[in-house]
Amino acid sequence: MNEIPHLTVDLDAPGVSRGHLVVPGGSDHGELSLPVFSLNKGKGPRLLVTGGNHGNELEGPLVARRLIESLPETQTCGRVIVLPVLNPLAVEAWSRNTPLDGLNLNRVFPGRAGGSVTERIADAVSRVLLPMADTVFDLHSFGPTWDFPPAATTHPIADPDLMARTVRMAEAFKLPLTLVWDYNDTAGMFDIVAQNQGKVFVCTEFGGGTVGADNLAIYEAGVRNALIALGLVEGKAEYPTFRQRKSGQTLETHPYDELKSPAAGIFEPRCSVLDQVKDGDLIGILHPMDSLKAESIDIRAPGTSIVLAIRSGAHVDVNEGVALVARPLKN
Ligand SMILES: [Zn+2]
Repeated sequence: MNEIPHLTVDLDAPGVSRGHLVVPGGSDHGELSLPVFSLNKGKGPRLLVTGGNHGNELEGPLVARRLIESLPETQTCGRVIVLPVLNPLAVEAWSRNTPLDGLNLNRVFPGRAGGSVTERIADAVSRVLLPMADTVFDLHSFGPTWDFPPAATTHPIADPDLMARTVRMAEAFKLPLTLVWDYNDTAGMFDIVAQNQGKVFVCTEFGGGTVGADNLAIYEAGVRNALIALGLVEGKAEYPTFRQRKSGQTLETHPYDELKSPAAGIFEPRCSVLDQVKDGDLIGILHPMDSLKAESIDIRAPGTSIVLAIRSGAHVDVNEGVALVARPLKN
C-alpha cells in the first residue's frame, strides 16, 4: 500500500485531467479514491472547488458536477480543480459527520496522516490539493431544519488585506446574501487552514439542503458569477432572482446574534429570512408541548436587524438556536 496521499493524474498537464485523490488506508478503513477533475489552460487564476464536506449537504456535489460538465466549453485560462465529494463516507450515509469515527471533516483540518479516516481525508486535501490553488470555494448547505438564503460566507480574518479580498470574492457570487460570520467554533475548519496560507477562501451556504431545482439554478449562477469575476470564464455576472428580487446585501453576524429557545417545544416562525425587523418585532413563537398549562412564548427581535436564518419544522430543546439576525457589514 502506498502510504502517502497522492493524485493518480498529473494536474499540471495541459487540458482536461480526470483521476483520483488517493487517501491512504488505516486501521479503521481501507484506501479511499476521491474523483478529481482538473482543467488546465495555462496562466491565470488557480481555483479549487470542493463539495460534500458535510455529507447531508448535497447541493454542492451537484453544482460541482455541473461545473465539470460546463468548464471544457467555458474556461478560457488558468486552472480549475474540482473535487465534488470531499467526504464520501458521510455523503453515502447522508450524515453531517463521518459515521465511522463520528468526526466533522470541517473541524479536523489540516488533518493527520496517521489519524482516523476523516483526519486522513483532511490531510490528503491539505497536503496534495490545497497547495495547487490560490482561491478555494467550498460548497455547503445550511441544513434541512433551517431556512437560510443562498449565501457566500467567510469569517473575520486577522489580515485586513486578505479579509478585503475575501469579502470582494464572496460578493462576486452575487448571491442574495454575503455574510461575514463570527462564531466561536472555528478550530479545524478548512477555511482557517487555507486562509493561514494567504488563500482566498469562500464558503457558500446553499439554503436548506433539500436540493430544489430553483435553488440549484441560483447556486449555479452564483458559482458562474464568481468564475467570471476571477476571469476564468467570459460573460456578464448577474444577480439571480430570489423571492422576486435580483439583489444582494453584505451582512455581519456575531455569536450574540443567535436567538435561543426559552423552553423546549415546537418553534413556529413568524417571519422570513431577509426580513428587516426592529426592537420587539415578533420573530417566532415557542409552543411548549409537555403541559397544556404552559403558555406559548413570543420570541422577539433584540434590536434593528435583518433575519438571517430561521428554524423551521423542528422541535427544539431549551437554549437551542431558533433564529440568527445580522446587520450591514461595517467597513
Ligand atoms: Zn456544511
